[in-house]
Amino acid sequence: MTRSSTPTLVVVGAGVKAVAVAAKAAVLREMDIAVPRIVAVERTAVAANWRADGGWTDGQHRLGTSPEKDVGFPYRSSLVPRRNAELDERMTRYSWQSYLIGTNQFAEWVDRGRPAPTHKKWSQYLRWVADNVDMNVIFGEVQRISVDSGANGQRWAVHTADQCVDGDGLMITGPGQPERSILPGNPRVLSIAEFWHRAAQCELIAAERVAVIGGGESAASMLNELFRHRVSTITVISPQVTLFTRGEGFFENTLFSDPTGWTGLTLDERRDALTRTDRGVFSARVQEALLSDDRIRHLRGRVAHAVARDGRIRLTLSTNQGAERLETVHGFDLVIDGSGADSAWFIPLLGQDALDLLEIGLGGPLTADALQDAIGYDLAVTNVTPKLFLPALSGLTQGPGFPNLSCLGLLSDRILGADIGAGTEPDDTADRATRRSDEHQPVR
Ligand SMILES: Cc1cc2nc3c(=O)[nH]c(=O)nc-3n(C[C@H](O)[C@H](O)[C@H](O)COP(=O)(O)OP(=O)(O)OC[C@H]3O[C@@H](n4cnc5c(N)ncnc54)[C@H](O)[C@@H]3O)c2cc1C
Repeated sequence: MTRSSTPTLVVVGAGVKAVAVAAKAAVLREMDIAVPRIVAVERTAVAANWRADGGWTDGQHRLGTSPEKDVGFPYRSSLVPRRNAELDERMTRYSWQSYLIGTNQFAEWVDRGRPAPTHKKWSQYLRWVADNVDMNVIFGEVQRISVDSGANGQRWAVHTADQCVDGDGLMITGPGQPERSILPGNPRVLSIAEFWHRAAQCELIAAERVAVIGGGESAASMLNELFRHRVSTITVISPQVTLFTRGEGFFENTLFSDPTGWTGLTLDERRDALTRTDRGVFSARVQEALLSDDRIRHLRGRVAHAVARDGRIRLTLSTNQGAERLETVHGFDLVIDGSGADSAWFIPLLGQDALDLLEIGLGGPLTADALQDAIGYDLAVTNVTPKLFLPALSGLTQGPGFPNLSCLGLLSDRILGADIGAGTEPDDTADRATRRSDEHQPVR
């Protein structure tokens, strides 16, 4: 196989981040600027996690952030000296508003007061962008990730059941697997995917005491849905002191849209900002609904153990009380395990060679915390070649907007601005850095 001078960036998952990076790469290519070839490997469909079949929503719930935080937001590129304004202007062709105009929905959206779109409508927008930039998607579930060593250096090898896609860089996306459950197979315990499957089938849940484990965005969406079901009490279980409301004022929002200044904060200051604005907090819209519904209670603790007994699920909660650890047992008729979101979900897919590569780069054992601490400016793990981009773990070191939808245009700049190399002969390097190449890396 002859190696081309165009490096390949493989993206696990054809969701929001893959679409944002593919759109920016397509625009840069149009401007005759060399960029890696982007190949997304997707288990179901583009933007699947925003539709009922992805398992994270029934598609009918609404986006929490503004849709104007689209694939190019905040339209403040700093990737191509003297041509950034042109880049941003070209990117506006893939904006939320261009989508509405292009599909004849703009006037109605404005007249209705610019409502937050449903998750399904958001997925339609993302698919429109992917189609318009001719995004390269290979369908198959990624089951294993390894590292191939060759004469030109090391490359990522991303394996599905029937093929292997090679890349000079690898980006992992997605919130994890919604099928996770503390008691798999028990009909009184629903995973996130099982819960949304029922909601999508318009199946009404009828239960006396329901527990929702988790205090994050996916638990908030499920609570929003549970309101209309026949349940007597809903207990939200999370380790936080209480159910905090996300600050959505100008100053909090700015932290997400603009990471400038984030790295100037101490780690303690950053952690404090994240707990106030991001981790385990509910949006103001969900909190308003919670306020008016007296069925909802909060229970502080981590679920240490779950067991089915006498037609109920008994959850053992562990809580810190000063220096002591307290364990309490609570019984429920139905438990919804909303704790499936895990930004390090891909670790079990890594082969031994990939684990070794990462542990050498990290200088110690591979953990989610170690990865998080090692994410550099380009959103990749520092000291690891070939590059591994982990935007979902980049909040602490690079800015709280990178893991979500808050600054997708900056995310694509950081990733496409990274040098992922191509394992090419040295004389190809200058060409790759400055000129466009139409050669395509064959996908095995
Ligand atoms: C219900 C919900 C609502 C949210 N709402 C907001 C919001 O309003 N605002 C905000 O800023 N953030 C929100 N978030 C958080 C975050 O922005 C989203 O999770 C966002 O989609 C992350 O983008 P992504 O590209 O990493 O992943 P996704 O858009 O989720 O895409 C991941 C893709 O990977 C695919 N995939 C998964 N596993 C594999 C595999 N093994 N092999 C191949 N493909 C695979 C999936 O099918 C999916 O298409 C929300 C999250 C959830 C779960």
